[in-house]
Amino acid sequence: MNTDCIFCKIAKKKIDAQVVYEDEDILAFKDIKPQAPVHYLFIPKKHIETLNDIRREDADMLAKILLAVREVADKEGVAQGGYRVVINCNRDAGQEVFHVHVHLLGGRGFSWPPG
Ligand code: 5GP
Ligand code: ZN
Repeated sequence: MNTDCIFCKIAKKKIDAQVVYEDEDILAFKDIKPQAPVHYLFIPKKHIETLNDIRREDADMLAKILLAVREVADKEGVAQGGYRVVINCNRDAGQEVFHVHVHLLGGRGFSWPPG
């Protein structure tokens, strides 16, 4: 755990979040400032700063995140209509929280290319 990291604090339940999925390695919760009717964040419980820092040993955890995204998208009723999955990495992508996370966004249309 990184004691300065807000997502580590959420993973340790030191800060409240609306959790929609949890297992021993990952946690999913509602984004505090949703950008779409459905907006969840999926994180590893262990602190990893960015996508640049993932290692082969993280493969199972990453696969579990995508399987959880699929499950939550289905549960939230956006699987058929469609949804977007985003990982922002570092400055150019606009990453604000440096604990790697996957956004699940749905419930409205999205444009392409992204802004
Ligand atoms: P990033 O730009 O780093 O990819 O996205 C960070 C996301 O984390 C943003 O969508 C922001 O609203 C969300 N966020 C930041 N702080 C908190 C928090 O304390 N709780 C929750 N639930 N979401 C947060
Ligand atoms: Zn962290």
